[in-house]
Amino acid sequence: MNDLNNAPVLVVGAGIMGAGIAQVAAQAGHSVMLFDMRDGAALEAKDKLTSSLNALVAKGKLNADAVAQTLSRISAISSLQEAAAAGLVVEAIVEKLEAKRGLFQQLEALVSADCILATNTSSISVTAIANGLQHPGRLVGMHFFNPVPLMKLVEVVSGLQTDAAVAQAIFALSQAWGKVAVHARSTPGFIVNRIARPYYAETLALLQEQSATPAVLDACLRAAGFRMGPCELMDLIGHDTNFSVTQSVYEANFFDKRYQPSLMQREMVDGGLLGRKSGQGFYRYAADAAKPAIAAAQASPMPAAQSLWLHGRGPLADALHAACERALGTERLPDADAGAAPALLRDESSEWIGLEIKGCQLRMTDGRCASQLGADVAVFDLPLQTTQDTVLAWAPSSRASAAWTAQAEQWLQALGFNPQRVADTPGLVVARSIAMLVNEAADAVHQGVCNEAAADAAMKLGVNYPAGPFEWLALWGAVPVCQLLDALDAFYRGERYRASPLLRQRTWQD
Ligand code: NAD
Repeated sequence: MNDLNNAPVLVVGAGIMGAGIAQVAAQAGHSVMLFDMRDGAALEAKDKLTSSLNALVAKGKLNADAVAQTLSRISAISSLQEAAAAGLVVEAIVEKLEAKRGLFQQLEALVSADCILATNTSSISVTAIANGLQHPGRLVGMHFFNPVPLMKLVEVVSGLQTDAAVAQAIFALSQAWGKVAVHARSTPGFIVNRIARPYYAETLALLQEQSATPAVLDACLRAAGFRMGPCELMDLIGHDTNFSVTQSVYEANFFDKRYQPSLMQREMVDGGLLGRKSGQGFYRYAADAAKPAIAAAQASPMPAAQSLWLHGRGPLADALHAACERALGTERLPDADAGAAPALLRDESSEWIGLEIKGCQLRMTDGRCASQLGADVAVFDLPLQTTQDTVLAWAPSSRASAAWTAQAEQWLQALGFNPQRVADTPGLVVARSIAMLVNEAADAVHQGVCNEAAADAAMKLGVNYPAGPFEWLALWGAVPVCQLLDALDAFYRGERYRASPLLRQRTWQD
């Protein structure tokens, strides 16, 4: 096999991805040939790259000599015949199986026997693209993310026939290009596009059930550390694109209900409400349109109570304990009698996490509705609180007294949260979204698509998640995650919330 570190690289397809890949390869010192079937497209791409890199030089962000060298290494070619010396081909053409297969078959006749063939496909099976090649073992997925120069992740995707040495060579090369590479098996959505599905799907399901507004759902997930809430993110990606990725993962999984697309999103696509690009999605994007705001955080005095029990154990219960201590300071609770028992008591033997005040319960969701748990009960969402943002969804039982409903909200405020009341929906917002992301990642690992470290790295670097699914699992615990999924499964009935076998096995180890 060629020494890829010095190999001439052929990039086929000079669109948004091909141009980015050419830039990254040239910056790493490779001589790069850029080809596009549309006449003049490769030259145009190089011109565009020249202007954008020179603009960065003018702003002082890049070194002029380095940019000149990078650009001198890229040549636009007008015939694939000129690419016989390539040691690596990276294909970034149209996302169509027949086009990709045809291109690679044509290339096999031109390049040397040890040239590696890589495809940047985001959704087509690498195994299927290799079908028909004389040497299918040399075809591998090299899945970059957009924009290529900025996004660190490369999924190195092996099809059924990909040689392990080929995948390893591309893994090492990606690292040499300054990327973080992860191995993935060629399955629908690979790692990122598969594990990310529930981020959109759970919010779409909550919207369909009228549990909360897009603004509240977005605010809850932003407070959990996501850079963008799912609604604003779908508006940015475009509902047509987002819907079609969901649909392709659904179809590729033989219509497994877990991946079922949303009727609501379908209607938005049909109606042309595509998001930012059409001026309207969940939000309006006209120049005069203001984004709907949510209720601001309010400081609330501590409600009257003689004692406060903190139930549960583990890092989430400990964080809540610390919030209680902060809220209480050194003061006694407002109506605590002189000489009364300590204001804040802890019961670590409880199977639930939350506060008990005068027999009323304020519980972290375990997947059951507040109304299922009793009368004077309120549930609150998984308080990840990785940012300064304090938004937290909560819901009172339908049988809660007006006094407890008001007090529950005040307690959340006193603990430093900005509580947003949503419908009494199982698993609320963040908890069900995170549980489903963890579940999808667990299934990917269970099915040998990737390992845990790859799943975590892929989600943090490919879609900027604040933590990896297995990091969330370590924080939250397999038992509560599985319990939450089981509660959702019992409530909704159907395939969607079935727990991954890997997660179920983990509950026996916890
Ligand atoms: P694009 O439409 O910007 O560019 C594709 C280019 O390929 C066009 O210039 C087109 O003329 C050329 N082309 C089409 N068929 C060709 C052929 N047979 N031979 C040579 N050139 C051909 O598309 P893009 O967004 O750059 O996507 C390219 C590939 O990368 C697709 O497989 C896509 O799924 C994948 N991808 C895209 C993204 C993204 O965010 N855009 C991210 C990851 C992967």
